[in-house]
Amino acid sequence: MADCLFCQIVARRIPTEIVAEADGLLAFKDVNPQAPTHILIIPTEHIPTLVDATQAHTTLMGNALHLANRLARSYQLTSSGFRVVINCGPEAGQSVWHLHLHLLGGRPLRWPPG
Ligand code: AMP
Repeated sequence: MADCLFCQIVARRIPTEIVAEADGLLAFKDVNPQAPTHILIIPTEHIPTLVDATQAHTTLMGNALHLANRLARSYQLTSSGFRVVINCGPEAGQSVWHLHLHLLGGRPLRWPPG
């Protein structure tokens, strides 16, 4: 999608700090980090929101969670804890309409979120 920010990142037209690429997924550092570790995991395929993910994306979504697990381990977040978040839709604060998981860690995270 030419007008999608994250598709531009997938196409390497917008520079980012990429930390992993595997299984139809790309992981890169959030430009406006909300925690010492803040990584976004996106499908390279354009899927606007979690609502648009279908049963055909089951493996992809499982791989996304597995990649979050792997990154949490490599960023040494497993003992202290970490959070994986998908914002879906306007009231959840989704601002980029390309499905993404946030991996957040490295500081205490409050609950419930605001
Ligand atoms: P959300 O609000 O859940 O849609 O999350 C979108 C995230 O994308 C925000 O945390 C932004 O800081 C992040 N973001 C926006 N533009 C970029 C970019 N060019 N590179 C990396 N992260 C970005």
